[in-house]
Amino acid sequence: MRPEQANQMKQDSGEAPLASGARWKMPLAKQPHFIQLETVTKCNARCEFCPQHEIVRDPAKMPEATWKKIVDDTRGMGITYRPFLTNEPFVDNRMPQIVRYIKEGDSTARVEFNTNGELLTEKLAIDLLEAGVDIMRFSIDGLSRQTYEPSRRGVDYDKVMKRTQHFLRLWDEGGFRDRVFTEVRMIDVPENHHEVDAYRDFWGPKCSEVLITELYQWPWTGQKREDVVMKPCLKVLDELFFYSNGNATICCWDVHERAVIGNVLVQSVPDIWASHAANCLRNLLDDGRRDLIHLCSRCNAYAGYDFSRFEVEGPATSIET
Ligand code: SF4
Repeated sequence: MRPEQANQMKQDSGEAPLASGARWKMPLAKQPHFIQLETVTKCNARCEFCPQHEIVRDPAKMPEATWKKIVDDTRGMGITYRPFLTNEPFVDNRMPQIVRYIKEGDSTARVEFNTNGELLTEKLAIDLLEAGVDIMRFSIDGLSRQTYEPSRRGVDYDKVMKRTQHFLRLWDEGGFRDRVFTEVRMIDVPENHHEVDAYRDFWGPKCSEVLITELYQWPWTGQKREDVVMKPCLKVLDELFFYSNGNATICCWDVHERAVIGNVLVQSVPDIWASHAANCLRNLLDDGRRDLIHLCSRCNAYAGYDFSRFEVEGPATSIET
């Protein structure tokens, strides 16, 4: 969840906060609103900032029975499904089939992609639009070849520019503007900062929205024990993440399965969401004790976010270490 989304959340919005006795009381949703599925473990890019290349999970491709179980468990719940995790979604050639399965018979379901655009051929673009995709986000970190190529290693700049624009033309001319949200986004870093205005001018008329965003740091990518931020977390409030092997984790940055809370092959998705394992981790986070969770003990996310409106009145609960 982005900070601006968290700012809209209220304690009394009908969601179900945890009774934890912790220092903060974060507005936990009664069920996940967003589910990510690692349908394949591979990516066509080798970006320096991303630990995706470290993944050696088995199976490399999520079996059909697994992704169908996740979808079947959550039909009618108003879920936005993101059929990717740390991988590039269109490495998986089953995507149109997966989108159709999610959308068929569930008018509450939405499907969202975040792609680097390189593998999005014309046929795939048409198949996805016809299958009912709802949100397409293109990550293109730079306008010129000179700024783009050093950031997205292994990805062909010409293909990305050509295929992204072609998708957006099909979207525009095919009458999908009202049905499908499209976004082109760039991480703002010193190397491409001088292109921000030109980037907005170039992509703005072609898509629904342009997003210029900040670079984030994955946990366990150089942070030391003393760098941990002793604050709650916005990521665990309404999202759930599944690996190719059916394991579920609390965080999309959990590349190495450090915070597994269940497995969909032996539990239902709602049971995993409400599980003791999940609640234990959330309670610790609500007390700002990231240091007691292996995954979170090297995470500095949301360091600058003001959590004061979620503070519980009265003295903070202390936990012996
Ligand atoms: S690693 Fe932990 S603290 Fe950091 S974003 Fe993920 S769940 Fe939140």
